Amino acid sequence: MTKDDFCDIDIFMTGLKRRNPAEPNFHQAVHEVIESVMPIIRDSQAYRDASILERITEPDRIIMFRVTWMDDQGNVRANRAWRVQFNNSIGPYKGGLRFHKSVDLDTLKFLGFEQTFKNSLTGLPMGGAKGGSNFNPKGKSDAEIMRFCHAMMTELQRHIGEDTDVPAGDIGVGARELGFLFGQYKRLNNRFAGVLTGKGLSFGGSAGRKEATGHGAVYFLKEMLAHRGDGFDGKTAIVSGSGNVALYAIDKLLELGAKVVTASDSSGFIHDPDGITADKLEWLTQLKEVKRGRISEYAEHFHCEFHAGQRPWMIPADLALPCATQNELNHKDALTMINNGIQAVAEGANMPSTTEAVIAFHKAGVLFGPAKAANAGGVAVSGLEQSQNALRIAWTHQQVDEKLQEIMKDIHQKCVQHSELNNGVVDYVKGANVSGFIKVADAMVAYGAI
Ligand code: NDP
Repeated sequence: MTKDDFCDIDIFMTGLKRRNPAEPNFHQAVHEVIESVMPIIRDSQAYRDASILERITEPDRIIMFRVTWMDDQGNVRANRAWRVQFNNSIGPYKGGLRFHKSVDLDTLKFLGFEQTFKNSLTGLPMGGAKGGSNFNPKGKSDAEIMRFCHAMMTELQRHIGEDTDVPAGDIGVGARELGFLFGQYKRLNNRFAGVLTGKGLSFGGSAGRKEATGHGAVYFLKEMLAHRGDGFDGKTAIVSGSGNVALYAIDKLLELGAKVVTASDSSGFIHDPDGITADKLEWLTQLKEVKRGRISEYAEHFHCEFHAGQRPWMIPADLALPCATQNELNHKDALTMINNGIQAVAEGANMPSTTEAVIAFHKAGVLFGPAKAANAGGVAVSGLEQSQNALRIAWTHQQVDEKLQEIMKDIHQKCVQHSELNNGVVDYVKGANVSGFIKVADAMVAYGAI
């Protein structure tokens, strides 16, 4: 294959699929970025000479290991875990850990690849990584979760460090798990260092971190609407998920004046036509963060509908925030939403919309904020947590929130600057991909062939 062949998207993708067989999520994520950046590759002799596309789609390294732990019945259990250190060209590796039965290398490679460009967009010095395990936390006791987290960190601690790789939470990894993970790191290394973010406030965590991804996604949506001369007043929103991202997205939507009528978990969604109020949200947050209950209990408690096994995209609304998981919103869903008059979509989850759904939104002139821009608020505040840990200081909630708003505004501005109009609407996918890519690619060129 010649260097020019790398300028042909189909030829490039054929090679990538051959090198990374049976990894459809990774292929999907790469294809989206390659489509956006190919014109600048064609224009740049330096990028072509440095084989940037070939190198930027290959993780720096992948660490895979066994995690052995004991359940409450005394049975020895084994899970598989990974850390994908994708690219540290612009800073130490940074990205969450996911605990879910579906976790495999494909999932973590797509997430680590996306994370590289998202982190670049924040303007902070962070490389891209992702990790996790196929451990299923559902139904496990606190003691089992603790033993698993301690066993996982026993191996992971060799590969992380505040200047090397700084993991955080993701699906199935929240405050409880991060506490257990950090405790074991500290015990094994006898040092208190900022090697994880999303930590508890009493041991080095940042104010505003748990709210940051959800709040940030709504700040990004606010910027997209404002760019069009619009706002939240009188608008109805549909949200999926009821985890960390969804709960705080709903929180900020309510504060800014939107009406939120849905939330979901992996068993189905609730439709509350009267709207989720602040009181109802507090109840839901307790249900999910403390009791670890199911979303159907909301419908029983507040007497509204529960749709088992379904996603909320058929409910008419002006705004949509998919905040659960990848590929949860497909082409058919997008067409339904467009028919129902959807105006804007902001991705709280990573890659929640399929490629075909994104194309449909673009064709219909719907404002579409892709994950790597819209949900970058979480990792941005993780970056602020790293800064606070390094300086041994703690900023107030208000200080962090102001910085988060500035960062989301700046990301929006970068997207607009690097995009083109698509159907009269800013193409945020292209803007985010190009802006995130250039910074990483320029650093790689500067380092030479390493
Ligand atoms: P949580 O584990 O807190 O919540 C995940 C939510 O999504 C739960 O309601 C869960 O339901 C639901 N969900 C998970 N898997 C599925 C599935 N296969 N089908 C339907 N629903 C599902 O995770 P987060 O809120 O932290 O993460 C949500 C998304 O946001 C992920 O894509 C993550 O990568 C992304 N993200 C998270 C960041 C963060 O700071 N936490 C930062 C940036 C992105 P149930 O409880 O039934 O499993």
